[in-house]
Formats: sequence, structure tokens, C-alpha cells
Amino acid sequence: MMLREVAEGVRVHESECIQSNAVIVDGDAGVLLIDPGITREEMASIAADLRELGTAVAAGFATHPDWDHVLWHPSLGDAPRYGTALCAASIRDVLARPDWKEQVAEGLPPEVADDVPMELFGLISGLPAGASQVPWDGPRARVIEHRAHAQGHAALLVEDRRVLVAGDMLSDVLVPMLDLQAADPIEDYLAALELLEAVAHDVDVVIPGHGSAGDAAQLRARIEQDRAYVRGLRSGRMIEDPRIGSSAKPGWEWVSDVHEWQVERLTGGGGTET
Ligand SMILES: [Zn+2]
Repeated sequence: MMLREVAEGVRVHESECIQSNAVIVDGDAGVLLIDPGITREEMASIAADLRELGTAVAAGFATHPDWDHVLWHPSLGDAPRYGTALCAASIRDVLARPDWKEQVAEGLPPEVADDVPMELFGLISGLPAGASQVPWDGPRARVIEHRAHAQGHAALLVEDRRVLVAGDMLSDVLVPMLDLQAADPIEDYLAALELLEAVAHDVDVVIPGHGSAGDAAQLRARIEQDRAYVRGLRSGRMIEDPRIGSSAKPGWEWVSDVHEWQVERLTGGGGTET
């Protein structure tokens, strides 16, 4: 059993690849599976664990339209897979390109590229725009949509369980990765952090898309840490952050490169590039 219970009826499967978290919420007739994972093997192992628990996937949810959040595996079954309307539209645009497979493949980390199943990639049904919850038979999962990391990005607040599934926000290993396509990525990010802060008093456990789950104090600390990082980008001053530079976790040194790239893009140091 690779699943770890982090709150009553909420389990996490952590991938070896970029510490991706798949989140499993127990429902009345099957589970809600959020961001299922990266490799065939690990998704099949989640399916096997669910069988062992006497349950199966009743619904899926993708927090945002990045490749590592819209994968699926046949063993997980053919439950509906939801995302926000914008998430679904964005991934549909990807799938409409004749060479989408090659394009996606180019972005995969080489060490897992061969293990990533592409056959059910991105088959996301969009919720109605502004939908407030995931339509499924289980604890209410409130959709908190915001534009910060990506278009159509949403966190889910599993209200009764006091769990916030944050998508690619509030990580202890990744600095905020801004959506540089947006008109105002910095203000978008700060606004999203405020949305998450507004529900913090309802949360005992935060689960980021990548990294470690944290408690209520961690949630507040991560919001502050991310806000400081983004404000640092805005001011152009030197950013000190434990996730980059010499204090980065071993294996995560590349986050410093992401950081340098963001600084260059946002401070105009790199000039215009499209
Ligand atoms: Zn991700």
C-alpha cells in the first residue's frame, strides 16, 4: 500500500518524479482522484491499492492543464475527469494540434519520458464556468479557481475534511512559478494567495502538487513565504528563499534556474521574447 492517510478519508500518493502528489478522497460510492500522478506504474499501483481497499475511482479532477496534472491510466477506469472550464479549454487546444504528442514529449523529464502514458492524456471535462464544487457523490470539494500558476488553475477545499489541495501553489520545494503568458502575472499571483489565505482558517492540512503536505501553521507560513517571493520579484530586489540557492533541497537545484529565468523575464532583463 503506497497510499498515506493525511486526514480522515484523504490519502496521498507521492511520486518519485518531482514529488508529485496524487490525492484520493473517499466518497459514498468510490473516490475522487485529484492529479493522478506521472508514470504508468504508479497510477496502476494506485488502482491496485484502491481495489485492495474495496473501492474505485468515481471521479477525477485536474487542478490545471500542465502535462503532469492531466495524465490517466486505463487501470483507473473511465470515471469522468473534471477541471475548470478554462483548464479543459486550454488542454483541448493542446490536443487539437496535430503534433501534440511530440510537443508534450519534448517537455517531459527524460528520466521518466518512456514511462508516461499518453493514451488518455488531457481528456478533461470542463465544469461550468464559475462552478463552485466538483459534481460527485462524496464530501463537498469546493473549487477555488484563480490565475496564478496557470490558466484555469484551481485548488480544491475538501470542506468536511479540512484539507486544501493546492495544485501547483504553496510548495515547500518549488518557488511560485508564475504564468508568464498572463498580462499581470505578479498581481494575479498575489490575488491567488489572498484567495487561499481567505480559507486558511478552514484548513488543517495543505497538500501541494509537488512537495510535502503541511499543517495549518505550515499553510500560513507557505502563504507568507510565497508572498515574500512574489513581492521580491515585483520589487526587483535580491530574493532570499530557502527553496533556491545553496539551501535548495538536493535534487531540486533546478528550481534556482526557474527562479533566474523568472527574474529575467519579469524585470525585463532579457528584453522582449515571445
Ligand atoms: Zn505540476
